[in-house]
Amino acid sequence: MSASVKWALYMTIKEDTMTLPLNTERRSKLSQRLKRSGLRPTQQRLALAELLFTGSDRHVSAEELHQEALSRGVKVSLATVYNTLNRLHSVGLLREVVVDSARSYYDTNLTTHAHVYHEQTGELIDAPLCLRPELISGLAPEGTELVNFEVIVRVRSRSSQAEG
Ligand SMILES: [Zn+2]
Repeated sequence: MSASVKWALYMTIKEDTMTLPLNTERRSKLSQRLKRSGLRPTQQRLALAELLFTGSDRHVSAEELHQEALSRGVKVSLATVYNTLNRLHSVGLLREVVVDSARSYYDTNLTTHAHVYHEQTGELIDAPLCLRPELISGLAPEGTELVNFEVIVRVRSRSSQAEG
């Protein structure tokens, strides 16, 4: 089998699983994951969790997830999407990345990593973070402890115009 055929096959399988909202085994696993975190696995939460946690790690805004849910036939309000993302974040199943006061992304990758944010395209990508933990915890003033920290490297495309 050629590489391109294998890739096409893989894409087909992945697409099939993505469009099966009632895959009972996956639903049951997600349901247990929500329960273990103290969240009641409502139908809407399960549907959103399925969109978030199926496939590879991703960054998604509330608006993007809302659009995605609607396009897959999940009837849910933007307010419910916000609420669900906040709950998932508060129990530690999602990480929130605030890139500016008007824009937050939710990250399914809970490992320690930095982000590179492209200001013009809005693209947020993961980057390795090599910092000694004591370097970061050393920044916490006496009598406090480190809760979390974010490293966001902001970039923009180089101007193509020659300067001067
Ligand atoms: Zn990330």
